[in-house]
Amino acid sequence: MVLAITPRHSPCTVAIDNIGGPSCSHQNRLIRFLHDCTDMSQLKQIHAQTLRTTSTGNNSHTIFIYSRILQVSSMADTGYAFRVFDQIEHPNSFMWNTLIRGCARSVNHKQQAIQLYCKMLEEGIVKPDKYTYPFVLKACAYLFSLSQGEQLQAQVIKSGLGSDVYISNSLIHFYASCGHLELAHKVFEKMSVRSLVSWNAIIDAFVQFGEFENALKLFREMQNMFEPDGYTMQSIINSCAGIGALSLGMWAHSYILSMPDPTIASDILVASHLIYMYCKCGSLEIAQQVFERMPSRDITSWNSMILGYAMHGQAKAALECFARLIKTESFNPNPITFVGVLSACNHAGIVSEGLKYFELMVKEYKIQPQLEHYGCLVDLLARAGFINEALNFVTNMPMKPDAVIWRSLLNACSKQRASVELSEKVARQILESEGAASSGVYVLMSRVYASASRWDDVGLVRKLMTEEGIAKEPGCSLIEVDGITHEFFAGDSSHPECKEIYRFLDVIKERLELMRYSPDFSQAPLVNEGGDTKQHSLDLHSERIALAFGLLKLKPGIPVRIFKNLRVCNDCHTVFKLISSAFNVDIIMRDRARFHHFSHGTCSCMDYW
Ligand code: ZN
Ligand code: ZN
Repeated sequence: MVLAITPRHSPCTVAIDNIGGPSCSHQNRLIRFLHDCTDMSQLKQIHAQTLRTTSTGNNSHTIFIYSRILQVSSMADTGYAFRVFDQIEHPNSFMWNTLIRGCARSVNHKQQAIQLYCKMLEEGIVKPDKYTYPFVLKACAYLFSLSQGEQLQAQVIKSGLGSDVYISNSLIHFYASCGHLELAHKVFEKMSVRSLVSWNAIIDAFVQFGEFENALKLFREMQNMFEPDGYTMQSIINSCAGIGALSLGMWAHSYILSMPDPTIASDILVASHLIYMYCKCGSLEIAQQVFERMPSRDITSWNSMILGYAMHGQAKAALECFARLIKTESFNPNPITFVGVLSACNHAGIVSEGLKYFELMVKEYKIQPQLEHYGCLVDLLARAGFINEALNFVTNMPMKPDAVIWRSLLNACSKQRASVELSEKVARQILESEGAASSGVYVLMSRVYASASRWDDVGLVRKLMTEEGIAKEPGCSLIEVDGITHEFFAGDSSHPECKEIYRFLDVIKERLELMRYSPDFSQAPLVNEGGDTKQHSLDLHSERIALAFGLLKLKPGIPVRIFKNLRVCNDCHTVFKLISSAFNVDIIMRDRARFHHFSHGTCSCMDYW
């Protein structure tokens, strides 16, 4: 036998040595020891004893003993489990399944789970059953092995297990993980019997794909049949975060508090998701309350809060939260913590602090900076006007900068009115790293040319875009009124209350004129044919339509919350500040980059975004 016999000095060794010779009662004692054994060193001793004292025959005790040895070792030491498995002459389906499950769960043995399954089929002595497929599918999902998973599904149907709930649930998860939401949904639709897990799996799949509305629709359907559990609620909270549905998120929160199982409300992960949701929905105060009331926290909860402060541009609060984490908690910050800290510095434009924390991360906490960390720092330097320093930083990075970093540089070039030559240089880098041009690059370049009054080049960019069939990502804003989310695109006239909205937009325009507002065209996309067109397109930016709708519909005193898919333009930013004072209303807007709180004519970002 290749297996090592363990040292003889641990307490367990003494106990096992006293077990005695081979007999049925001896086997019973081994079984008792095995029952409580969770530790590899104990297990190895028991295994050695088993080899010394029992035959490898097929009596039920021996089968039990080997099954249990396999069970414990497959969780703790997959290599050892394989060696045990190889010693078993005729492994039964439980043993096969145990080892497959162990491999599927272990980070480094996913491929072996699939190989074992193939071997099982090849040997043909034991057939895969309903416990086999879920774990092989899990391994396929992890490895994004679509074709192997599809073959598995065919075998499931062939073996008559097509209606098994557990297998179908695994198939939903598998297809969603491989990026095929429609196939996951198809499996779900075909199920004749569904469990709570099936609903959770499909709802979660929709959330992962950003189809929050559909996720919520399924959730409402599910409520007629099942009481949601902690997993369901996490998906729902994430959906609310995704679409910025604050009142629905608050409902989900109160629902959690009223659930019969109190452990869900006190669950650290659920609370961390709540913090994230409140931050994303623009309610930093409630996020803070949830955070402060948590009986215990882990690094995820701290990260949620720090990232939340950063997202809202509250650099001071984010850095204080970080200081508290260092001081009061026994665990160390991780790379995500520093993404929060650095983006807080970035949103506030505090260059020296950003550099300080970057150094702290590397020197004190020995965290290898990742692309996100470099991204924050490059953006911070560039937007603060240190474009050459940022460029220097990018060229000296240990890894290849991605298009996101180059785009943030180009963005800064456009905003800081850097030289056209420098901007062009950066734009070329973007084209190089992306392979093909995206609409964002063209839009930014046209802005660079527009601010240098090089209208011929603006026209050229526009022509290129048309030729290559590149469309600008349409601006889209969401606003929730009375629990219903309304969606507006730029120049949108599809809303049922469109007439009233446009009439109110005119009212707003008059008020702005009284305040001596003059439109800022510097970021108007691709306009080179006279003032009127530019004015028109600025007027009807999606966030302005959403704001007009909010002002019409919401009761006075209630802040207007708007969620926009793109970065807010200079002009809308100015207009929102003016409206916040003219209409005495607080406006909270989340754009692609961060939150803006407009109140009494100013914005929380202090015009730095
Ligand atoms: Zn705008
Ligand atoms: Zn702002």
